[in-house]
Amino acid sequence: MTDTFSSYAMRNVPRYTSYPTAPHFNAGVTDAIYSDWLGALSPRDSLSLYLHVPYCREMCHYCGCYTKATRQEAPLLSYAKTLGQELELVADHLKTPGQVRHIHWGGGTPSLLPEQSLLDLAGMMRVLFDLSPDIEHAIELDPRYVSASLAETLVTMGVNRASLGVQDFDPTVQVAIGRVQSYDLVKTATERLRHAGLAALNFDLMYGLPEQSLETIRDTVARTVELNPGRIALFGYAHVPWMKKHQRLIDESRLPSAAERLALAEAARADLLSAGYLAIGLDHFARPDDSMAIAEQQGELRR
Ligand code: SF4
Repeated sequence: MTDTFSSYAMRNVPRYTSYPTAPHFNAGVTDAIYSDWLGALSPRDSLSLYLHVPYCREMCHYCGCYTKATRQEAPLLSYAKTLGQELELVADHLKTPGQVRHIHWGGGTPSLLPEQSLLDLAGMMRVLFDLSPDIEHAIELDPRYVSASLAETLVTMGVNRASLGVQDFDPTVQVAIGRVQSYDLVKTATERLRHAGLAALNFDLMYGLPEQSLETIRDTVARTVELNPGRIALFGYAHVPWMKKHQRLIDESRLPSAAERLALAEAARADLLSAGYLAIGLDHFARPDDSMAIAEQQGELRR
């Protein structure tokens, strides 16, 4: 696994953590084909719903996601309405649906939707689909926008797992990537979620960023461990400015070399392992008491 990890860590490649992967979304998949796929599902097929919200308040320089910046509420309200219509359409086309076992809100920053819209959409899903009693209902959050009120709303919606975009705690790295958020801000967001009852947390960290050093990444890992999330994802930054134009804001001369990138990845991985996290696949880590670590140890983990 270490050799596989090293060759993965040295490469400047996009990460494929979604399924189906982006190339599967193409013009050849017509509404008729999509409708046939939905209609062919049987009650034995468990379902996962993914709700993508392609809006953020501002663009981080390193972002590789499908999103755009808005400061307005109107596009968010309009998008929430469209999401509701899409949920109804999908439910209509499922002839004999199985239970929904996973809901995932991704983006973008899905929690930018007005709280009432989030509540309404969660309510619609309860009415339109057969939600499993042990459903995993997860959301991606930007720690800069986690208010106490939002934390309460998420719990009311039934969200039981949240993923926070942290990347790196070092202020110089944060300026270089256009994502400034202090350790105290992330700590407060974490406390608000836990206080509201949302205890299953994931932190996303990143190596291969401009201005990162062994010292900064090891400090980031140490501070992350202090906040004790159940899961940590450690991704490599993919610098593809020809595909993601805003990445041109990143000073390429400050990016680590391939060897430095590997050293950053290995240092972060080693510190996570010595802090007691278990490695799951190439880029995930989990506390031994986390459900993903338990499933891995019981040989029941599936992508
Ligand atoms: S908050 Fe996340 S999705 Fe939005 S611009 Fe930053 S990295 Fe991209």
